[in-house]
Amino acid sequence: LPTNAQQTAWLPDLLLVGGCFRSDLALVTDDATGRVVSVARAGEDGAARAVRLAGRALLPGMVNAHSHAFQRVIRGRTEFRTAARDTFWTWREQMYSAASRLTPEQIYDAARMAFLEMALGGVTAVGEFHYLHHDTDGTPYDDPNLLSKQVVRAARDVGIRIALLRVAYARSGFDTPPNERQRRFIEPDPETYLRRAELLTNNLASEYPCDDDHVRVAWAGVAPHSFRAVSLDYIIRVSDFANRHSLPIHMHVAEQPAEVEDCLRQTGRAPLTWLGSEGILSPRFTAVHVIHFDPRLQAGEINHLKNSGAIVCACPTTERNLGDGIVPADLYFDASIPVALGTDSHAQIDLLEDARELELNLRLSKLSRAVLAPTETTDNQQPSQISSLAARLFESATVNGASSVGAEAGVLEANRAADFFTVALDDPSIAGAGEDDLLAAIVFSLTRAAVSDVVVGGRLVVENGRHAAQDEIVARFTALQRSLWS
Ligand SMILES: [Zn+2]
Repeated sequence: LPTNAQQTAWLPDLLLVGGCFRSDLALVTDDATGRVVSVARAGEDGAARAVRLAGRALLPGMVNAHSHAFQRVIRGRTEFRTAARDTFWTWREQMYSAASRLTPEQIYDAARMAFLEMALGGVTAVGEFHYLHHDTDGTPYDDPNLLSKQVVRAARDVGIRIALLRVAYARSGFDTPPNERQRRFIEPDPETYLRRAELLTNNLASEYPCDDDHVRVAWAGVAPHSFRAVSLDYIIRVSDFANRHSLPIHMHVAEQPAEVEDCLRQTGRAPLTWLGSEGILSPRFTAVHVIHFDPRLQAGEINHLKNSGAIVCACPTTERNLGDGIVPADLYFDASIPVALGTDSHAQIDLLEDARELELNLRLSKLSRAVLAPTETTDNQQPSQISSLAARLFESATVNGASSVGAEAGVLEANRAADFFTVALDDPSIAGAGEDDLLAAIVFSLTRAAVSDVVVGGRLVVENGRHAAQDEIVARFTALQRSLWS
């Protein structure tokens, strides 16, 4: 058989294609472009190089659609009571304490730690919702995107793809006085914000160019923070900019009941109804959280999401940590609204935990099981009944995340990014699973330590559960935590 000198055949015991695990298959990737060439029968792949992945199953890389990387520094530091009833708003004060002090180099170290942990868990691309812009006293840096670039550099040094979603943050709140601790976030007028967002978009496009051959590794998007932090006119301006440049646009929506009430007071309409009627919702729009509705307006809110093709990003490990509430994912699944997943505050970084939590939270609240399982019967081309719920949740962690951040990833087929991870089949958390129940075992039970290899663009980023720079990243982060908190 003629061999192709620049192709590699990856040969796991089991390969996830079309939602099913199959044996005796090779994933063929192009070393030069970092793209998938084909899924071929093992031994008939025509690749010059073979990488045998014995005892492993191979799955498409996951996409973490909502991250605030620097918040990794407050993990473990907010799990105590600060008021009679501790809420999101008291947690936020702890977060501001860190946000107001970090230097550019410390932001790089914190982000690298978060991205390393993502990579070790099988995440190959991230949507970073980045709102730290200015120096600690609120003065813009000489390069107003210095901190955005630090975070991008951290992702590239770890080896995962990144959509830097540059956040617009104009004010403390609708009719609340300015909060001194938000001074690093604030760009009060849309003109300033848009100038800087355009600069970042151009800078990233020239530093990380992409062409027909290469999959892009770092790019920009925009993110009006929330109805609380950005005026209606400002949101419209940012959305117009995103539409002109075809950029992803993310926004926190209805994380807290107070935000829904705020929006009703400001606009007379519920959040998604206002966004939909202003033409801001589209398949490039991701509404992060979307937990709370005014019950009388819920049906209209769902319709606006459904009709626009917009995506919801749920962040269950953070939402449970902050006491935000439960994402009504059953409503979204029933309406065919895509749900992506994010680790958000990084109370924990394990995207499969977010995937399973999406379902398990609903079980607790509805006293019922398999709430998000598809109701239609499956045919031979579909995952087995036993794994059909897991397949839906895994789609949230992969395909829907990729759509949300604008990554060419999430599924292993010709011309897509060669982004994937493997799991050790003899790991105690999934041992004994067969082809039909393996995906359910992975989604509902895999411990992150079972992730063995992680490949981005055809290159090994994690090998046998280790990242090449792991010790250095952990040591730097440990030193950062000592200096920050002692
Ligand atoms: Zn967030």
